[in-house]
Amino acid sequence: MHTCRNCNQSFQTELALELHRDTCKKGQLFCQECGDRFQEADATQDGWHYECPSEDCDGEGLQEDLYQVEDVRTATH
Ligand SMILES: [Zn+2]
Ligand SMILES: [Zn+2]
Repeated sequence: MHTCRNCNQSFQTELALELHRDTCKKGQLFCQECGDRFQEADATQDGWHYECPSEDCDGEGLQEDLYQVEDVRTATH
């Protein structure tokens, strides 16, 4: 079983999970450093300083290393 760690929804296959992660509304932030996605709440304690929740990644800063997913999509035009 594969579980989306953003919304805890479960999927039969890894592919189904991958497809879901592209549209998961709870994975709103994207780290340019490691390419991971996570909830905004996972990246900040105080709503001011943002950093990537992945332990071995030093991506930080909203609009610096971390982007909102909608922004990433429009930026690739
Ligand atoms: Zn999800
Ligand atoms: Zn990262």
